[in-house]
Amino acid sequence: MTATKTCDIAVIGAGVFGAWTAHFLRQSGASVTLIDAYGPANGRASSSGETRIIRMGYGPDELYTRWSGRSLLLWREFFARIGVDLFRRTGVLWLSSDSDPYTAGMFDVLSRADVKHEKLAASDIRKRWPQMIFEDVSSAIFEHESGVLMARRAVQELMRDTVSHGAYYLSGVALPPKTRGKLREVQIANGERVSAGQFVFACGPWLPKLFPSIVGDRIFPTRQEVFFLGTPAGDNNFRSPQMPAWLHHTHPDRPYALPNIEERGFKIAFDRHGPEFDPDSSDRVVGQTSIERLRAYLKQHIPALQNAPVIETRVCQYENTWNGDFLIDRHPEAENVWLVGGGSGHGFKHGPAVGEYVSARLLHNAPPEPRFSLDSKQADRKRAIY
Ligand SMILES: Cc1cc2nc3c(=O)[nH]c(=O)nc-3n(C[C@H](O)[C@H](O)[C@H](O)COP(=O)(O)OP(=O)(O)OC[C@H]3O[C@@H](n4cnc5c(N)ncnc54)[C@H](O)[C@@H]3O)c2cc1C
Repeated sequence: MTATKTCDIAVIGAGVFGAWTAHFLRQSGASVTLIDAYGPANGRASSSGETRIIRMGYGPDELYTRWSGRSLLLWREFFARIGVDLFRRTGVLWLSSDSDPYTAGMFDVLSRADVKHEKLAASDIRKRWPQMIFEDVSSAIFEHESGVLMARRAVQELMRDTVSHGAYYLSGVALPPKTRGKLREVQIANGERVSAGQFVFACGPWLPKLFPSIVGDRIFPTRQEVFFLGTPAGDNNFRSPQMPAWLHHTHPDRPYALPNIEERGFKIAFDRHGPEFDPDSSDRVVGQTSIERLRAYLKQHIPALQNAPVIETRVCQYENTWNGDFLIDRHPEAENVWLVGGGSGHGFKHGPAVGEYVSARLLHNAPPEPRFSLDSKQADRKRAIY
């Protein structure tokens, strides 16, 4: 006889989206079972990085700015409650140009949303951060209260907390469900079953494998490389507050960097989409060509680090929708099944807002945001949200 677990809501996937969704559902009194194949924020998950930037700027896009603000508040409340602060207020610097409409729109939205920020000229940037050289940057926006989340640990703490408040955690692989009509249960690969009234599949880059006919061509995982460089001994120029988190917005490869946090080194990556990636089976080793490309960038922009040793690399995947908007919608053939994902390289910070949004839809039938619907997702690739 195989065991069947029964609950109000089953959440499949304990990355940042699933963990926050389970948290809010449980807080509302629902009985929740959370299932993960490899474990919360495991090494293959998109939420597994050491650190993720949380910034308010989204160009002229007010929705994500407001969600970031709400999320930062909720992250900080959670950290205060558990007594473990996993937020580092490094500030976030947008390096841009006067003629860039994205940052011009961002300036207006940040002002409207009451986000503390400052506009800087090229001369201010040179004076404040002499360790960086940006000839192509003529202006910048600095977000004072933004910073960095200690990502993997934050998700694992949230999971611990949610389980300690009564959610049930099951380690196992949920098999692709048969979704004609109402779903009664999910089968786990080891033979167990979880029966529930509603199901949330928050499986990030695995969603196309679980629902190939629905999202197979609407979420595409890409390989993304991250580098940690050893900074010179005794040099504090690459730590906060001497260095903020920053995004080189005018550069075609969209580099971004985080200061040396917890002695892991200066973190840098390119935000352009890499090749297709399989979250289960693809290797996560960085090639020499990527390191050479990085060194060419450093030589031009951060000369003190051009020969710095690469002390750690990570390969992760983005789970992109066509334009970068999240996917949060019901399965078209099973009204009690929700698909939650499409973080598209910028989703981590929004975990709390996503969890709050999903639980309000499930528990109170709150009206949906059209931008997150399945219908709005196209198969071509025109990234618009960063
Ligand atoms: C290199 C990199 C840098 C990034 N930087 C930032 C940043 O600075 N700021 C930011 O806000 N965002 C950033 N992001 C994006 C962000 O990390 C992701 O959008 C977010 O983590 C996605 O979370 P998720 O919960 O949707 O997916 P995941 O974290 O991948 O979680 C999905 C979970 O589902 C589980 N699962 C899958 N299939 C099954 C199954 N069949 N049965 C059971 N469990 C299953 C998996 O094991 C996994 O744990 C970055 C991403 C990458 C890769």
